[in-house]
Amino acid sequence: MNLVYKRQLPNPDEIKNMYPVPEELAAIKKANDKEVQDIFSGASNKFLLVIGPCSADREDSVIDYIKRLRTIADEPLVKEQLVIVPRIYTNKPRTTGEGYKGMLHQPNPEADPDMFKGIIGIRRLHLIALQETKFSCADEMLYPENHIYLDDLLTYVAVGARSVEDQQHRLTASGIEIPIGMKNPTSGDISVMLNAIKAAEHPHTFIYRGYEVSSKGNPFAHAILRGYVNHHGESRENYHYESLIFLADRYNNEHFQNPSVVIDCNHANSNKQYMEQIRIAKEVLHSMTEHERIKNLVKGLMIESYIEDGCQKVEDGVYGKSITDPCLGIEKSADLIREIAAIRKKMLS
Ligand code: PEP
Ligand code: MN
Repeated sequence: MNLVYKRQLPNPDEIKNMYPVPEELAAIKKANDKEVQDIFSGASNKFLLVIGPCSADREDSVIDYIKRLRTIADEPLVKEQLVIVPRIYTNKPRTTGEGYKGMLHQPNPEADPDMFKGIIGIRRLHLIALQETKFSCADEMLYPENHIYLDDLLTYVAVGARSVEDQQHRLTASGIEIPIGMKNPTSGDISVMLNAIKAAEHPHTFIYRGYEVSSKGNPFAHAILRGYVNHHGESRENYHYESLIFLADRYNNEHFQNPSVVIDCNHANSNKQYMEQIRIAKEVLHSMTEHERIKNLVKGLMIESYIEDGCQKVEDGVYGKSITDPCLGIEKSADLIREIAAIRKKMLS
């Protein structure tokens, strides 16, 4: 191989000892986990919003954003109807390998990769979020072997569209206790996503970080529909009524522990037109209102949101504006969250 071994990185125990989770925060994370698990098991009829920037590019603006989200989450109607889990996505899959790969690789997006600082930076960020806002957040499991650096801080995790067919992701998912969303692959083949859910639900024996391990299975593995790209390279949506019924039928034909779906309102569903997320969210809620089967199936929405609307190039340097996918700004996001809570209340009354 032509690898240059630059340095050995600290193992998860070392990092966890450097940045431990105090007991009172561990208890908050546990309670947050239960709130979200109860949504997927059907024990709770609250609605999940996984919402936040496409990528967590810097500590100050991400914590600032999440604090604003906390204020909104604590409004009485929002609190009564919704469970909000902020996105702190610290590692980003790239279609061609080019571009910003997230805080794990580049704790400073304008500097060279530094994975030592990155590993520390992402744990610090998730820990500060929990400390200052009582939110334990969502991240993407891009590198399964890294999940253990953050497993005591996360309440939700997703396997991305480019990873969902990979065996190591599926087996690692089976050893995770928090709800894990399996995205449909970029090609849109629903079977790939359902196979990933099935694999995650069951126990396995496999190799993890140099050990032979066995997992218990994850009953909260579920689908995330994020739209897809057709063979002409054009974005196509999969959040309409027909796609939801199709998924409900597929779930019905096979045995799954907790058949559920979260709709990702951005990515190929919006064709990255971030403003479309508002309409898409409302359409999904309308389908739920009209159809009992869809109401039971859809457990939440994923929304890409940050302080500022849209996106920018890394070097533009606008505080709180996405350097990856375009996001809905905080004011519009706050209005949307309130509207979702109101629609949800009406739906259940
Ligand atoms: C994301 O959630 O920002 C993301 C990269 O998603 P996907 O895997 O659906 O492209
Ligand atoms: Mn994104």
